[in-house]
Amino acid sequence: MSSPEPNKVAVAQARGFCAGVSYAIDIVNLVLERYGPPVYVRHEIVHNRYVCDELRGKGAIFIDDLALVPKGSLLIFSAHGVSPAVREEARRRELRVIDATCPLVTKVHVEALRYARDGYDILLIGHRGHVEVEGTLGHAPDLMQLVETVADVEPIQVRDPNKVAIVTQTTLSVDDTRDIIAAIRRRFPAAQVPKKDDICYATQNRQTAVKELASRCPLVLVIGSLASSNANRLVEVASKAGADAHLIEDGGQIDPVWLHSASAIGITAGASTPEALVQAAIERLRSLGYPAVEDLRVVEENITFPLPRELRLP
Ligand code: SF4
Repeated sequence: MSSPEPNKVAVAQARGFCAGVSYAIDIVNLVLERYGPPVYVRHEIVHNRYVCDELRGKGAIFIDDLALVPKGSLLIFSAHGVSPAVREEARRRELRVIDATCPLVTKVHVEALRYARDGYDILLIGHRGHVEVEGTLGHAPDLMQLVETVADVEPIQVRDPNKVAIVTQTTLSVDDTRDIIAAIRRRFPAAQVPKKDDICYATQNRQTAVKELASRCPLVLVIGSLASSNANRLVEVASKAGADAHLIEDGGQIDPVWLHSASAIGITAGASTPEALVQAAIERLRSLGYPAVEDLRVVEENITFPLPRELRLP
């Protein structure tokens, strides 16, 4: 990998759609094609306005309150997952549910249930109010405590310090989470950590790639929605690595003032950002005097998830 020449744009690989986002969007499209609109989706299927607007145009209706869904309707759960209470409410309302929860979020739910069954107090590292965190907390509401920062660790009270387990949101900063886990383990040396990371492969790969990008480019632009946890983490990781980093929803938000001191600009995109937005941002940079574009290939990905059984062709 060579450093970009002056006035070049370097585009990170891995970037953009992850397997879970493609899976969720494919499910909504397939359900719309097969059953026709309207199709209700609990919460934005993924945190990206462009993706949701396109699906809205095809007949998807995004709701957060199941009371708004007429009895007997088709309801899709978003990639972020839901709590058992939401599943139960959908059953009570006699909705036909198709689950687009990312399988890597479901893996965390299964871990939480297993720890709860085995009598552990569970510490969930994540961001309060994020829809994925609400879904995970709902799997063991009486046994789970949310930990957002290292400072949250000291006041934690548990029933048995030898029966503490840790699970995490899938889209956290790898480095910050490592620090929080270390702090938990200082207080509870026997704390169980899942054998395989809860922070998903896509989050880890995009953070690894943006670190490399930030080491080469003084300015890094992350394309993604304000609501996207993993896109926000990419901005933080790039900033910590020394770059001037900005989160933009699309190329139209690039402020030419940012470019003055930057000979090389790095571009990456959150896991719910369509590639078309990346290409449009590159075009905008071309028009602003950055004609050369090169890929910075740091991590290759080839993960896909099979569709839910009920949507596979016979
Ligand atoms: Fe799944 Fe990770 Fe993508 Fe979230 S970011 S949808 S957990 S693969």
